[in-house]
Order: sequence, then structure tokens, then C-alpha cells
Amino acid sequence: MTVQPELYESSELLKKASELKDKLIAWRRDFHQHPELAYEEVRTSGQVAQHLESLGLEVTRGVGRTGVVGLLRGKEPGPTIGLRADMDALPILDQKQVEYKSTVTGKMHACGHDAHTSMLMGAAQLLCQLGKPERGNIKFIFQPAEEGGAGAKAMMDDGVLSDPPVDAIAGLHVFPFVPVGEITAVRGIGCAAADTITIKVIGRGGHAAHPHTSVDSVVISAQVISALQHIASRHVDPLDSIVVTIGKIEGGSASNVIAPEVTMQGTVRTLNPELRAEMPERLEKIIKGVTDAFGATYEFTYHMGYPSVINDDAMVDLVLETADLVLGQGKSRLVKPSMGGEDFSYYTHEIPGVFFRLGVGNREKNAIYPLHHPQFDLDEDALPLGSAMLSAVALQYLQKS
Ligand SMILES: [Zn+2]
Ligand SMILES: [Zn+2]
Repeated sequence: MTVQPELYESSELLKKASELKDKLIAWRRDFHQHPELAYEEVRTSGQVAQHLESLGLEVTRGVGRTGVVGLLRGKEPGPTIGLRADMDALPILDQKQVEYKSTVTGKMHACGHDAHTSMLMGAAQLLCQLGKPERGNIKFIFQPAEEGGAGAKAMMDDGVLSDPPVDAIAGLHVFPFVPVGEITAVRGIGCAAADTITIKVIGRGGHAAHPHTSVDSVVISAQVISALQHIASRHVDPLDSIVVTIGKIEGGSASNVIAPEVTMQGTVRTLNPELRAEMPERLEKIIKGVTDAFGATYEFTYHMGYPSVINDDAMVDLVLETADLVLGQGKSRLVKPSMGGEDFSYYTHEIPGVFFRLGVGNREKNAIYPLHHPQFDLDEDALPLGSAMLSAVALQYLQKS
């Protein structure tokens, strides 16, 4: 489509987005007060669908169980760009003291998905105000269950990337350690593959004073944990990134009893897909070797979680150029990948995509806590910027394709 250059030159798009600010804040606070966990986003997706219908978009509900899709069809056939937001909250007790805090005990929008949803609703409104694209389509994808439930995959299994086929996709994540008004992006692999492991070390219980008559699963587990750290320090190329974290360990019943078994859970994060593929065998060799050596046995499961996010070079360039136009020169930068996981990855393994971070940090507004923190909050001044960025990325993509 032909985009009027003045839309950017005077940051007209940002001005239009700013006019929506009160609405964006109201939506975000409403979602914030009514958080819904993965695949429970019935109220949230209902509000989204209603809004998209009020804009006159073609709306499909129940995609990937609780997801919603809105389609803005252009005047002529052409490429389709997808814009994605996630809608789910986390099982965290909201400990902020603000009027819009969560009204549901033990559930909270601590990852900013309330803001993502609100910003994409705003982008849909902005793009509708500008009229139908001359050529090509824009698909608004509101997905459930990013937090562990692979909602992106559920939507893809329900055909979100087809009819019309989506040629490229863009999404953003709020980030409190980037100041409001700025964005960051990563070239290539942007987020890690996030796998989970469970290890059970099976020894033989007995009296704590007579360890030679038993097989101490606690001591052997300590060896297993230490040995697993050798993967990062000795097995992997120092220029490759990997994290092996044991986050949970359980075993034993009393101070004077040798524990018969210990169960551990952890996560393995990798950026390189080839390295990831080696991990199940590599971990098992170590677990087997250590438990064998000390007379114990083991059970081991390696669960492949989200793959890594792969950012397409041309899409990254598009976001950086768009940021120059919308936010101003010098407001975007390239950064290192994150070892965090993100199910936007599933889209990027199918079609070219870009996932970038939108700054929402502001010390004066107490927007200083990390994602998933019980006091996480964001500077709502970022909301119109996010809507403007998403809209502009879509327009730029259609213009260039
Ligand atoms: Zn999260
Ligand atoms: Zn998130």
C-alpha cells in the first residue's frame, strides 16, 4: 500500500496513537484487574473480539481454544502480515499497591501481556482508521497461553497462519530494563530454547549413622548437580550459550535418615539448535555415569519445550527503520539474545518473523521490577508507542513487499 510519507515525517501516526492513550490505559487496567491464566482467557478474548468486531474486521473466535483473530483485508490481494499479542497472566500474587491491582488472588499480569493485548487492540483501531490497505492484509493474532502452554502452537494447529496465508509476523514484549521511548531487537536467534528436565536419583535408605550400609541419594544428587555444570564449562564451545539450572530438589524425611531417593527438576536453555539436540544424551550420560559410580540408579526425562526464536534479518531491519520513523533516530538498538523462552518462536520456525522489546521502564513510576516479579508494573506512556510501532511495522511491510 502507499503510505503517506507525512504519516511518519510529522510522527502523525504517533499523534494518532497518543489520542488513543486513555483508551489503551483503560483496556490495560481492565485486563490487569481481571487476569486469566493460560487457556482460561475467556473474558479477555471476549473483550478483544468485541472490539475487533466493532471495527468491522473479520473476526474468528476460539482459535487455539481461547485465541481470537481479526483480519483487515486490503482492496487488492497481496501479502499478509501478522501482528501478535499474548493474553495470559501468571499464577503470582499481585503485591503492588495501585488502584488497578489484580482483583483475583494468586493471579497477576506480571509479564505485561495485558499491555500487549491492549496495544494490539490499539494498533487494530489505528490501522482501521487509516482505511483498507490498497494491497495485502493485516492479521491481528491474540493468542492464549504463552506462559508454558504453547498457545502459539495451538493457534497454528488451528490454522492461524493460513487463509489467507501469513507471509511474515511481528510481535513485541514489554521490557522494564529498557527506558520508555526505546526499543531493542536481536539479529538471528533472539530467545533460547527452553527445555525442562526431571531427574530421580534412586539409592537405598538407612540409618544416618551407618552410611556404608545404604546408598545415599542426597550425596549422589550433589555430585550429579555439580557434574551437570561441566556441560557449560567443559563440553560446550565457550562462544556458544547454555544454561543448565536445577531449580527444585526434593528428598529425605529426617536429619538422621539416609534418603532413599531424591527428585530434581530443572531447565536447559540453549540458543544453538544443534547443541540443543545433543543435550538429552549428554545429560543422561553424566547422570548415568555418576549414579553408576556410586551404586545408585536413576530415572530421567527430558522434555523439549519452546524452540528458540529466530529473527529474520529483513524483518529486524524493518523494525529498526520503523523505529527511526516512529520513535525518532537513535531510539532503537541491537542487543544480545536472551536466555528466556518465548513461544513466539513457533511462528518464526514457519515464516519470517521478528520479536522486539518495547521499553516500559521508568524509575519515577516504580516501573523497575523484572518480568514475573510480584511488583512488576510498567509505564503506561509506552502503550501508544507500542500501538504505533506495531501499526507502522505492518504498513511498512505491506509497502515494501
Ligand atoms: Zn512471562
Ligand atoms: Zn511474556
